[in-house]
Amino acid sequence: MATTQAARAARSLFIDGAWHAAPGGRTFAVNNPATGAHLAEMGDGGVAEVRQAIEAAERAFPAWSATTADRRAALLSTAAARMVERVDDLAAVLTSENGKPLAESRGEVLIGAAFLQWNAEEGRRAYGQVVPPTAPDRRVLTFRQPVGVVAAITPWNFPFSMVTRKLGPALAAGCTAILRPARATPLVAFEIFRIFEETGFPAGVVNLVTGTDSAGMGREMATNPLVRKLTFTGSTEVGKSLLALAADSVKRVSLELGGHAPSIVFDDADIEKAAAAVVASRFRNAGQTCICTNRVYVQASVAETFQARVAEITRGLKVGDGAAQGVQIGPLIDRRGFAKVEEHVADAVGKGARVLAGGAPVRPSNGLSGHFYQPTVLGRATSDMKVMYEETFGPVLPIATFETEDEAIRLANDTPFGLAAYFYARDVGRIFRVSEKLDYGIVGANDPVPVGAHIPFGGYKQSGLGRENGSDGIQHFMETKAVSIGI
Ligand code: NAD
Repeated sequence: MATTQAARAARSLFIDGAWHAAPGGRTFAVNNPATGAHLAEMGDGGVAEVRQAIEAAERAFPAWSATTADRRAALLSTAAARMVERVDDLAAVLTSENGKPLAESRGEVLIGAAFLQWNAEEGRRAYGQVVPPTAPDRRVLTFRQPVGVVAAITPWNFPFSMVTRKLGPALAAGCTAILRPARATPLVAFEIFRIFEETGFPAGVVNLVTGTDSAGMGREMATNPLVRKLTFTGSTEVGKSLLALAADSVKRVSLELGGHAPSIVFDDADIEKAAAAVVASRFRNAGQTCICTNRVYVQASVAETFQARVAEITRGLKVGDGAAQGVQIGPLIDRRGFAKVEEHVADAVGKGARVLAGGAPVRPSNGLSGHFYQPTVLGRATSDMKVMYEETFGPVLPIATFETEDEAIRLANDTPFGLAAYFYARDVGRIFRVSEKLDYGIVGANDPVPVGAHIPFGGYKQSGLGRENGSDGIQHFMETKAVSIGI
């Protein structure tokens, strides 16, 4: 496909409306995590290229921010429509570099396009206010204005939709932007930028810098005074360091960080539906999802039935190359991710967990060479096991039991994270009580996928700052100016 040809040419930096190679023709390899196949060489840009991109975005800002919201929305809608038209090609690229099953990649492209579309429309609804004046001879208004140059850093686990979730609202608000995609998954970001180029965004409005120097490029984005807003999705550890770096220039910062989602199964739940939902929530993207269920608490009276069903469904999941028909669980992204899964399972088993399904690596065969792990269910989980408090980011589902509603809420909230939580129950009073008491930004009550362009996404506590999507999302890319007029 044309993509890979262009990528092979390694002109993958899109700065000021043109494609560039990295200085000296430096490149880095992108490989398929399932097969080990070499996919492309990308330009290995660094701090200097990030700086150039920031300067291009700064030059483009006055004209872009002065275009109408209608015009910006029209361009974003065109780009979104092109993404939908090319969903199959884009999904194939996404699966090749990330490993997730094709069906999940298709879903990610479609929701990613919807993020662009939704935020385009929100740009047209970014209203100011008329405020009651402080004196009879004054009139007071608020203007909503774009914050300025935005720097965005995205992770490898949702390499398409995290990009559109950030660039959509930034561009719709009238900001210009620079994106630095994850080192492991720059190909689909490159495809997004080819679509932006074709769509006709003016030069410098949206810039892409691929490269391997994560820390150096991140530092430049967080400290360069021309950048007015930093938006990051990734680990809590890196998010905290960027927040500290951004403090010096008092940048606006949005962070979407790690989570440790509990799923609580109450005795009044539909156990069959709850078991299927918990399995879907844990094993999506091989467990490499920030809102994945990390730990399950099931009420003791229904624990046996629930666990048996979860184990049975899990044993039926098909592991393999995400590009192959019917595969539900792809590889871990890399050796480090795999080692963490092995460590968490060994730690849990050493502390008394019982393996109810899986529990071992899958030896690759049929031309595969990636890091695969069996979808694993662990019973008799206890709070001292790493799986119960650290993000495993892999296909491991630990199950513990509880007796009362209060105990379940206490256990669920006993974490520094607060991104997503789930519970399964039918009693309406309980559904309201538990939803209110869970200390999380996103709660799925009998819903394992509480996401959508119109739903605010973000975490409490150390899971982040700000919200993406929903009607709030675009607000994080705008400033409010109060204007008081004497008449
Ligand atoms: P990561 O923090 O290692 O990397 C995220 C991005 O930051 C990548 O582009 C990476 O190259 C870059 N990066 C790495 N070190 C950097 C540094 N020192 N300075 C600047 N940038 C740096 O995270 P990851 O492993 O790519 O992603 C997984 C993590 O992301 C998990 O913790 C997951 O929960 C979280 N995540 C959160 C959300 C959310 O919306 N809350 C969504 C997806 C992933």
